[in-house]
Amino acid sequence: MNPIRILSMKITGVTIYVTRIPVRIKRRHGSGDIEGTVQNAILKLDTDAGIAGWGDAAPWAVFTGTIEANAAALNVYLRPILLGADPTRIEALLDRANHAVVGHPEAKAAMEMALFDIVGQASGLPVAELLGGRCCDDLPLSFSVADPDFDRDMEMVQRLYAEGLRLFKMKTGFAGHAADLKRMERFRKELPADAELRIDYNQGMAAHDAIRQLRDVEAFRPTFIEQPVPGHQRAALAEITRALDTPILADESVFTTTDALAVATQRIADMVSVKIMKHGGMMAGRKVSAICEAAGLACYGGDMFETGIAHLAGTHMIAATPNISLGCEFYQATYFLERDLLAEPFPVRNGRVIVPTAPGLGIKVDEDRVRHYAVETLR
Ligand code: MG
Repeated sequence: MNPIRILSMKITGVTIYVTRIPVRIKRRHGSGDIEGTVQNAILKLDTDAGIAGWGDAAPWAVFTGTIEANAAALNVYLRPILLGADPTRIEALLDRANHAVVGHPEAKAAMEMALFDIVGQASGLPVAELLGGRCCDDLPLSFSVADPDFDRDMEMVQRLYAEGLRLFKMKTGFAGHAADLKRMERFRKELPADAELRIDYNQGMAAHDAIRQLRDVEAFRPTFIEQPVPGHQRAALAEITRALDTPILADESVFTTTDALAVATQRIADMVSVKIMKHGGMMAGRKVSAICEAAGLACYGGDMFETGIAHLAGTHMIAATPNISLGCEFYQATYFLERDLLAEPFPVRNGRVIVPTAPGLGIKVDEDRVRHYAVETLR
């Protein structure tokens, strides 16, 4: 497209599809369970240039926020900011969004990825290139071991190992310490030594007992231990970080850049999980990563219960951000959802996520499938 034409585009339509997609496996976490279906607010922005951009807000009520609130944030508070706006003014539009409604980082992430998708398609550039350019062509994928039926989970782990996956994150803190140790022992016994074991408590430990129990966990040589205690218990998390040899990764403790600054300057953790749904988009995720990088904290590419649309945004962000060096967990589109919303499969090969090279987010959305899973459409 002619550059002058790109800079005079206008957003002409804002559609929000609230989808409910069945899931194939159950998930248990220290903070809550997922089974049956997941709900997302899928955003479509139309422009007068004939280009449409797509976004995905993937809230989780016990972690980031609710689907009802995020659909309302998009429909009531962000719609008037977007309608008639120039989609290339991404920072300015996010600034307006932050002044129009507090919180709702998932809605803002959806808005940001739809804008980048439009600008990328208009300019012929993938989103990673708009963010500064890719530093890699693929990312190691992590699968979360979180099924209450551990036998079924181990079958899945073996299958994924055979497909080339090497990163496995075991969800712990919901069935008791003894059961957790048994699962770790079995994982180490049944998987070859190059299978990386990572542990995620999702805040499931009591602070008074955490250090003693985590010393038992260290015997299984996890790469890191994620968020053992509740997010707000920062002093306890810092104490655990000092006491253990295994790196401690903060997830629920870091939503905002202010949170990241506190974790970095006070060394509350050794690593941080970057999620576009927590921080409110790719640029916000890169700010969190930059703060961590300044303090020597490596970052991990986390996610929520996303469709391939948000996975693509996360993939472009990580590809352009070398400090997010611990892999990504974008497994849901391929292994968790009954069907994803992308017209082609989310790109996973040999246990790695391939960074798309087509303009924008890089893979088209199947709008008929979005409509099929929509339980409510707001236009
Ligand atoms: Mg986590």
